[in-house]
Amino acid sequence: MSNTLLQLYDLSKKYGNLTAVNKLSLTIEKGKVYGLLGPNGSGKSTTLGMVLNVVNSTSGSFQWYEGKLTTHQALKKIGAIIERPNFYPYMSALQNLILICKIKQCSSDCIEEQLKLVNLWDRRNSNFSTFSLGMKQRLAIAAALVNKPDLLILDEPTNGLDPEGIHQIRKLIITIAEQGTTILLASHLLDEVEKVCSDVIVLKNGVKFYEGAVNGLTQTHGYFEIAAENEEQLLNFLKMHSDLGKIKKENQYYHVSLEKNISTTEFSKELQKAGILLTHFSKKQPSLESQFLSLTQTKKHATPEN
Ligand code: ADP
Repeated sequence: MSNTLLQLYDLSKKYGNLTAVNKLSLTIEKGKVYGLLGPNGSGKSTTLGMVLNVVNSTSGSFQWYEGKLTTHQALKKIGAIIERPNFYPYMSALQNLILICKIKQCSSDCIEEQLKLVNLWDRRNSNFSTFSLGMKQRLAIAAALVNKPDLLILDEPTNGLDPEGIHQIRKLIITIAEQGTTILLASHLLDEVEKVCSDVIVLKNGVKFYEGAVNGLTQTHGYFEIAAENEEQLLNFLKMHSDLGKIKKENQYYHVSLEKNISTTEFSKELQKAGILLTHFSKKQPSLESQFLSLTQTKKHATPEN
């Protein structure tokens, strides 16, 4: 049995003149936890909507299970939460889930297991209307899991939650992934994707900017923060150096991104040889946030920032 659950081929969606998703190709493999990461409006929800058959694509295609199943058949093996959780307010958590099992035509045998997993078993007889937003979201996750899906799709699952609620949902997603469910999580929060996901697809204006391991996104060689007595001499030296990338002035210091891993000792020796007198020198790593921003702003190197 193949490991490929979903493939997108040049999938696009236009709303009038606006291209919400632009020729997006990607593959979702079993057993991984994918983050679909991008700022608000970058096309994440539209992408999920298309593969879940709630948004019609304009061009391109996608296939589930390598085309062995129709989308209709495949969606029975998928759990998705793409909107705010919607349940009957005056029915209990348990009654709501029993109803969902009937709608999904699956056995209600695993309801207890799912309610325990999302930590709502003790509140199973409380009406949905009495739940906090975090509890509602956890119930939605339990509802998405009742048919034991191969893939769980979540769109911004922590939006609007307080820090405790956010923590609980992230922990829950990690537990579900550890139990073997593949996950596709859309989020505009880099640290969420970094905490939860193994792989990431970065979108900006509907275009894919990066696809790969999460730690690939966050790995750079860092940058030098540097100043010298003779600024012009320093700048000429930096511009000529083959292992250095972008140069940017931040207050009184130059920030120079590194294309290779160069040690401070090695570099200061080179500067000494060139007769450059330094007044400030240190090596830094850009924050994750600034790396993500630089990825979505330009295809070139991370702009070093503190
Ligand atoms: P994200 O989920 O990353 O926030 P969306 O997929 O919701 O992004 O939106 C992508 C772009 O498509 C945005 O510019 C948004 O305004 C636009 N868009 C989304 N849905 C519609 C719609 N039904 N009609 C017109 N424009 C839409």
